[in-house]
Amino acid sequence: MKQLIKGGTLVDAQGEYQQDLLIDKGKIADIGASLPVAVDTEVIDAKGLYVMPGGIDVHTHFDIDTGIARSCDDFFSGTRAAACGGTTCVVDHMGFGPRGCSLHHQLDVYHGYASDKAVIDYSFHGVIQHVDDAVLAEMDDMVHQQGISSFKLYLTYGYKLDDNQVLRALQQLRQVGALATVHPENDAAIAMRRAELLAAGKKSAIYHAVSRPIACEAEAISRMINLAQLAGNAPLYIVHLTNGLGLDYIRLAKQAGQPVWVETCLQYLLLDERCYHREDALKYILSPPLRTRSERDKLWLGIADNSIDTTASDHCTFPYQQRVAMAKDDFSRCPNGLPGVENRLLLLFSEGVMSGRITPSRFVDLTSTKPARLFGLWPQKGSLQLGADADLVLIDPYRTTTIRHEHLHDNSDYSPYEGFVCQGALAMTLSRGNLVAKDGKFVGQAGQGRFVPRQPFNQALLHMDHYSDRPNKVVPPLTDKVEPGIEWG
Ligand code: MN
Ligand code: MN
Repeated sequence: MKQLIKGGTLVDAQGEYQQDLLIDKGKIADIGASLPVAVDTEVIDAKGLYVMPGGIDVHTHFDIDTGIARSCDDFFSGTRAAACGGTTCVVDHMGFGPRGCSLHHQLDVYHGYASDKAVIDYSFHGVIQHVDDAVLAEMDDMVHQQGISSFKLYLTYGYKLDDNQVLRALQQLRQVGALATVHPENDAAIAMRRAELLAAGKKSAIYHAVSRPIACEAEAISRMINLAQLAGNAPLYIVHLTNGLGLDYIRLAKQAGQPVWVETCLQYLLLDERCYHREDALKYILSPPLRTRSERDKLWLGIADNSIDTTASDHCTFPYQQRVAMAKDDFSRCPNGLPGVENRLLLLFSEGVMSGRITPSRFVDLTSTKPARLFGLWPQKGSLQLGADADLVLIDPYRTTTIRHEHLHDNSDYSPYEGFVCQGALAMTLSRGNLVAKDGKFVGQAGQGRFVPRQPFNQALLHMDHYSDRPNKVVPPLTDKVEPGIEWG
């Protein structure tokens, strides 16, 4: 049975097209104006809807053990929530394994976590928790045999790397064709401030933010940019940017032609430090912390001027009940992380596209296409090319959605976005042509998601002419204009 998505507005990272889209055997089989309906074809009426590549969330933590607690979403509930939120592929950041373990050890563990549970396609970022000759020697196999073409390293937490380890790792990752991603925060500065605050009895939630100020993050970002340059211009991806100073360092590096890309997360665009003065402030503990409102505005400028490349959720769920039980009144005992994998697309659609800050194409770029290009998934994912996986999300810009935790599909007991009203509604999510969510309801099944071996990092994909410097413009939500003769591919 084929499926024909009829009457919608297709959107990819380059533009919008009033065209139909045919799915055959889970792949995009044809695109054109008024495609005929064959007998063995199910017709999906997409009139008034945007039809876009499904979201790709390249920063989740499902089933993660952070040392003090295990997150409550595994690869079933996590990908179920993702699917209901219009996301059709996740690249999960693996947690740390036993001290001294190999890169392959954690990969095996994570295959075990995901294989019977995922409802959408998935991959993992490798995690580098120490650097020695054996770990460096493993990287080539990870990239070229296992399909893991990106790795995470940390500058804080228990397995932080020192400069020597960072340089060796970056050099080797560049040589084997992998992208280095980094959690940038200055560990020593945080430790010193935290100790001072706790000694002074300053333990309420706001001191979580005070203990990790912007300078801690910006320092580590600038250090990583320079170390990447010293490691032979190694490609570098900064995760979860929260602030304008860090963004300015990244802008400078980009202007100098350095291969640096940056992700931000919805929580840093939509929430701010005032949350730490709420009675339920523990719901908002994550690292780096929420910043001030003016930092939010700076990030939105980065979204609009193309200096921010991707958005992710950093979904990492610890229920409020557990937070309260563990932290009592000490921020430093609270597990860190927010849920958000189900809310990323619609919130960004509403606040970005419907508010007129970005075009629908830029939205697709931020949520799907550029993550796919950076992490070796394009054009199989993140595109509407013929032959691409039919991973699609259909969004209705005319309806509104009020976010309520009770309607979400993760295992948390709250949403940080409770009561947020989105202009827009998610009508359908298709994963390789299979309907996995409809009108916010889950209709998929555990185990139908597949591991996607990713291609080695390819910088040329980020430099395509038509792909950068396209100005964002304010456009009405839907255009009646029919554009025949669009060339695809
Ligand atoms: Mn992090
Ligand atoms: Mn994270």
